[in-house]
Amino acid sequence: MKRSELSAWIGGVLLVLCTMGAAAQQKYTLAIHGGAGVLSKERMPAGRQQEYLRHLDRALTLGDSVLRQGGTSADAVVSVISYLEDCPLFNAGRGAVFTHSGKNELDASIMDGATLKAGAVAGATRIKNPIVAARAVMDHSEHVLLSGKGTTQFAREQGLTLVPNRYFSTRERKESLKKLQKQQRRRQEADNHGTVGCVAVDIYGNLCAGTSTGGMTGKKYGRIGDSPIIGAGTYADNKTCAVSCTGHGEYFIRLTVARDVAALMEYRQMSLQQASDRVMAKLTNLGGTGGFVAVDAAGNVVLPFNTSGMFRGFVSSAGEKEIAIFTD
Ligand code: ASP
Repeated sequence: MKRSELSAWIGGVLLVLCTMGAAAQQKYTLAIHGGAGVLSKERMPAGRQQEYLRHLDRALTLGDSVLRQGGTSADAVVSVISYLEDCPLFNAGRGAVFTHSGKNELDASIMDGATLKAGAVAGATRIKNPIVAARAVMDHSEHVLLSGKGTTQFAREQGLTLVPNRYFSTRERKESLKKLQKQQRRRQEADNHGTVGCVAVDIYGNLCAGTSTGGMTGKKYGRIGDSPIIGAGTYADNKTCAVSCTGHGEYFIRLTVARDVAALMEYRQMSLQQASDRVMAKLTNLGGTGGFVAVDAAGNVVLPFNTSGMFRGFVSSAGEKEIAIFTD
């Protein structure tokens, strides 16, 4: 190697090391939810509460380690949501709620704040991890939202894991459907809890949001909620924030909740907190129930909800970690 080539090579290596050093000093934040709804501290057995807290803690630890090692926010969001989809406690992947006809139809979406690229699947019946399929739609297709049978075909072509529909089924969720059908509960009170979501800003300053759900118990006619709708249940833009919602999807669609938070920041120069307060007030006024988690590019985090509880938590590079279920 000539002397000039050698010094160019050394210069290149130094540049890469400096860039990595600078990037590694940057901060990251990740927040999750595991659904909002009528949750009572008194009525939920202590053992059950501990179980939820344990899984939320594991999900946060997983996301934290991806981001700490320099993984992207999209990697962290997909790892965390896949973990929660595999856990039968949550209404996403295994443990999803049942449709009126006793099937599981799953919705998921993801959005990358750096590129504004997005991917989503709706009414998926065979994909083990819908969030992985949503990311594949974003990364490897020319579309944003795939639905129904097409999701299975796409997942097969992408080499993703397919499972029979009964894989998603749990006894508890079947009981919920039976109770709803016997009119023992109103739809809003049915056990829908457990939609999962994750938002993150990584050490490179890139934001990502993802959401995954089985929807609402007893849903009919191929009903699709807000979770796979970009702008309603999920939104991310590096300029503003990343948002993942949970709650009565019809209201979140009508108010385009996730995009509204970002739009108030973009066009009205509101802070994340101000925008989130404004959107939650609108949701409550319209009679919608639920909440969301959101982070901005500076790592600020909000986890608002207007129900009696929301499974939620966040973790940051500063060593902060919080997990909670109820209002207190
Ligand atoms: N938002 C979801 C839906 O409407 C349900 C939920 O978050 O509980 O499908």
